[in-house]
Amino acid sequence: MPQVFFNRKNCIGCGNCADVLASYWDMDSKDGLATLTGAEKRGNNYILEIDAGLKDDFLEVAELCPVNVIKLR
Ligand code: SF4
Repeated sequence: MPQVFFNRKNCIGCGNCADVLASYWDMDSKDGLATLTGAEKRGNNYILEIDAGLKDDFLEVAELCPVNVIKLR
């Protein structure tokens, strides 16, 4: 299964991810940064396994992130 890696500490809170894929991305009202629903924290990353059918949606989000903190593997 594809995995999404989100390096949250370098997020700048632009909101693009939450605008495009609100079912997975939210903006935290406390610190203004994005959160990835269901992701597990491992080291510097939040990691989420996704169904293969969601890969294109997450790739679109990754491309729209201005600081490239979202990666897929
Ligand atoms: S698109 Fe990137 S920088 Fe913008 S809120 Fe989402 S993760 Fe953060």
